[in-house]
Amino acid sequence: MKWEKDAEKAIQKVPFFVRKKVKARVEKEAGDTGKIIVSLADVKATQKRFLKKMDAEIRGFQLDACFGSSGCPNQIFNTGIQSKIEDLLKKEDLLGFLRNQVKGDLKFHHEFRMTVSDCPNACSQPQIKDIGIIGAQTPYVTENECIGCMECVSICKEKAIIIDETQNIPIIDDELCVACGQCIDVCPTRTIETHQQGYRIQIGGKLGRHPRLAEELPGIYSDPEVFDILRRCIKYYKANSENGERFAELVARDNTFVPKLIRGIKDL
Ligand code: SF4
Ligand code: SF4
Ligand code: SF4
Repeated sequence: MKWEKDAEKAIQKVPFFVRKKVKARVEKEAGDTGKIIVSLADVKATQKRFLKKMDAEIRGFQLDACFGSSGCPNQIFNTGIQSKIEDLLKKEDLLGFLRNQVKGDLKFHHEFRMTVSDCPNACSQPQIKDIGIIGAQTPYVTENECIGCMECVSICKEKAIIIDETQNIPIIDDELCVACGQCIDVCPTRTIETHQQGYRIQIGGKLGRHPRLAEELPGIYSDPEVFDILRRCIKYYKANSENGERFAELVARDNTFVPKLIRGIKDL
């Protein structure tokens, strides 16, 4: 839907943590009345209604995803993990937890935030969420003969692959590789194949007065491992958060949590 310039300006003034929701609501309400262009009056009317009903809109968590499943060619794979995460977050009753914890009105900024990105481009900003999940596919070199077509070298934006011309084999630098899986897709001879397909996990990111980038847990995780980690994080959050303190704030304050979490994962 198109937006008039002053409507665009007005939506940019809405606090960032509700802007996406308000924008979607403006478009829906304008669309419902048959409009194809959003005006300033539409923004104001929706904003007024939205802020009035904010308490009813709060779910206790926010879960975003990138546009991978809408046909993005970079999507590594589509496992539907987002809906399973949503089920888990609902089951954990984070709204009930926050209602008991927060003195005064519950606000969007109290909510637990998660996101899923379907490739390392990370369009849904996992680095600034309490927990970010990133689709990943790591490569390994097989015994199949390399024909030296250089497709893998050209596609790798990280410059993580060189071809050893004396032995005619690709060499992959694991330190540089971000697990996008693209070299696997382009290799015509299956000299490069999938080693692991799963997820990278980042935890403890936030914006606000004290912004913090999330920390990445080492390794690639399967579906069950992702859910085990989520349960451990939520358990820790519920045991330690007071008066709406964000999970990311707890992680920033307690530098023993991530090492303990990593040790716990290794014991899985
Ligand atoms: S994160 Fe990757 S898959 Fe998702 S929208 Fe961005 S480029 Fe596409
Ligand atoms: S998986 Fe991606 S980053 Fe890693 S070597 Fe292949 S193309 Fe490069
Ligand atoms: S894409 Fe495959 S065949 Fe081509 S250079 Fe790379 S490893 Fe060799």
